[in-house]
Amino acid sequence: MFGNIFGSMKTEAVTQEVPNQWIKCPKCTSLMYYKEVEAKLNVCPKCNHHFRISAEKRIASIVDEGSFVEFDNTLAPTDPLKFSDKKSYKKRLEEAKAKTGKTSSVLSGSCTINGEPIEIVVFDFSFMGGSLGSVEGEKIVRGINRAIKNNCGFIIVSASGGARMQESTYALLQMSKTSAALNRLHQKDLPFISILTDPTMGGVSASFAMLGDIIMAEPGALIGFAGQRVIKQTVGVDLPEGFQRSEFLLEHGLIDMIVERGKMHQTLSDLFKLFKKEKKVVITEEVIEKEVIEEVVEETVIEDVTEESVMEKAPEEAVREEDMPEDISPEEVSEKELKV
Ligand SMILES: [Zn+2]
Repeated sequence: MFGNIFGSMKTEAVTQEVPNQWIKCPKCTSLMYYKEVEAKLNVCPKCNHHFRISAEKRIASIVDEGSFVEFDNTLAPTDPLKFSDKKSYKKRLEEAKAKTGKTSSVLSGSCTINGEPIEIVVFDFSFMGGSLGSVEGEKIVRGINRAIKNNCGFIIVSASGGARMQESTYALLQMSKTSAALNRLHQKDLPFISILTDPTMGGVSASFAMLGDIIMAEPGALIGFAGQRVIKQTVGVDLPEGFQRSEFLLEHGLIDMIVERGKMHQTLSDLFKLFKKEKKVVITEEVIEKEVIEEVVEETVIEDVTEESVMEKAPEEAVREEDMPEDISPEEVSEKELKV
């Protein structure tokens, strides 16, 4: 059923994102027919530049075909602060909904990856810059709760400018709320894989996005907390080349791996299989350790009984042996006494 809905959503996304038949790669400036790029999961065939893609396309590139079942798509944000800057928050929400057909910047649901059940949350940058608000935080936590209930792995694909300014503290609170929920997932020994795509910034990178058991990123993705301009103004020095890009972060140990879009499905499948295997090994080791401990306890008990029985049979002999001087003979003692 979802396949049909998905099909129509996919067509809409294409119409919105690619109004022209030709697209220009921002990295190598090649002009290409959009279908050629789309056939390669929106990756430039000339320079490997990874274009930003919608949440629907992202899900289609990661999960088993037709396996995605969406949850919580009726959740929509309110405007508790009656916030207004150049436009009111209410107006911005209406515009974002009209543009994307969505009520929040994340899609969440259950799926399978190579047959393995997984819970997944995917950000869509086209909805208010993929910003994190109360609804997004709630959908993430509900996704984590489903993973705990179904005893399965969890994925978040981030593409976000950070916490949603228009929700102020309500948005910032989502950082701690999602982090606390991930801790519960961790306590259940369930894996969380965080995928960072272009861009992953602000409160998103400062909370759940960097809490993955495995943190992977797409090539060339912008990942950081504050923007480069702000950092440059603050520290007053030129920033190194490639600063805040996936490759720079990998080199400096902030992420675990860079995975190309075309290899994401297989890599995720391999990692979840590995986590499952490791869990089995740990359980087996625990059983073996328990058995060894029980054996040791039994042996100790036997030894104690033997020693006690020896002592009961010949207590006097044991005492006498201890009292006897080993190295000094009675003659030597008398000689020493004589010298004194
Ligand atoms: Zn290119």
